[in-house]
Amino acid sequence: MAPRKLIAGNWKMHGRASSLAVLETLVDKHLDPACDVLVCPPATLIARLAGRGVDIGGQDCHWEELGAHTGDIAAEMLADAGAKAVILGHSERRADHGETDAMVARKTLAAWRAGLVAVVCVGETEAERDAGQTLASIAAQLAGSIPEEATAENLVIAYEPVWAIGTGRTPTLAQIGEVHDFIRESLETRFGNGAARGIRLLYGGSVKPGNAAEIFGVDNVDGALVGGASLKAEDFGAIIAAA
Ligand code: PEP
Repeated sequence: MAPRKLIAGNWKMHGRASSLAVLETLVDKHLDPACDVLVCPPATLIARLAGRGVDIGGQDCHWEELGAHTGDIAAEMLADAGAKAVILGHSERRADHGETDAMVARKTLAAWRAGLVAVVCVGETEAERDAGQTLASIAAQLAGSIPEEATAENLVIAYEPVWAIGTGRTPTLAQIGEVHDFIRESLETRFGNGAARGIRLLYGGSVKPGNAAEIFGVDNVDGALVGGASLKAEDFGAIIAAA
């Protein structure tokens, strides 16, 4: 049986003024009992938005529980604020903050230590796709970023082609299917069928109301990680409805 769909919103560094209104509209009008919804606002908004009818997540955490790490936030602090999950290894963090697969793996362990679901992002650059290196790049990121203790309950994987994030460009459905099938098979090889079949595989990269349904129709796509379109309750709601 296919896992229950998950629609996750990545608000990035947005939402200061609009957060409460967006969340309230989402909860009032757009939730669907048939699928799970997660909203990941900036860390300062987590406590404000948690407990209002939709799961809230962070966008990053440190691998240590405490210490001299100015500007960082521990997974336990996200959990204290009410987070249930955390996005890790987003390509913007890999690019802007030099995050490596090894760092993402340590952060994933920290998330699990704090009881959070880790939403680990992997994806190829445009140069890698053009060079025919897409699956090799995904394989390396999966091997390096996902610790051995992964289960269907503690891990979600988001396939996010770097060149599709925030650009309005998306891979073809066949390209999405190829990568999702590959991720599922890789997980089966590593973790066995039971865990691997339950780990949800999200597609992320320019998902919007107009393309969500066809993307959700692709095998092994168990939902979406949505950036820009998650900032408007109506657009996010239409994506939830398409699931
Ligand atoms: C993202 O940042 O995770 C993302 C998928 O962004 P967008 O939907 O805006 O492409």
